[in-house]
Amino acid sequence: MNAPSPWFAAGLKFTCTQCGNCCTGAAGFTWLSEDEADALAAHLGLDGEAFRMRYTRLVWRDGQQKRTLIEKPGGDCVFFARGTGCTVYGQRPKQCRTWPFWGRIVASREDWHDSARECPGMNRGALHAADHIARTAADDGL
Ligand code: SF4
Ligand code: SF4
Repeated sequence: MNAPSPWFAAGLKFTCTQCGNCCTGAAGFTWLSEDEADALAAHLGLDGEAFRMRYTRLVWRDGQQKRTLIEKPGGDCVFFARGTGCTVYGQRPKQCRTWPFWGRIVASREDWHDSARECPGMNRGALHAADHIARTAADDGL
């Protein structure tokens, strides 16, 4: 039997407006893998240990220790610059690249529209196909 079509079978619209909402405000978690930490360290010309000490912290989550970027005072991501945006855009962690097609966001129409209240890029702009959304959600970096 074929799997049932997802609620987003017709695709979803998203084009980032660069508003910065998702990189600013209250502190959150921007998870990154050790490979991503190494790539960011190399991008910044830093030794991996120095990068981890300066820009990341470890948090216990779901019974395991995970690495997240730190925030500036006020909660903005440490790599967000007002007026410029993400200063490590080409090397940003997977969860930044896969937004808003995260598993928990595309889980239901309601979850999608809840998140869209904070992200003006959702429900506008480019139409993304359902198979791309499903693949992204299955490996969203969270
Ligand atoms: S909140 Fe949405 S539109 Fe704004 S920067 Fe983030 S992804 Fe782009
Ligand atoms: S790494 Fe870049 S895209 Fe990701 S939260 Fe920080 S400023 Fe935003």
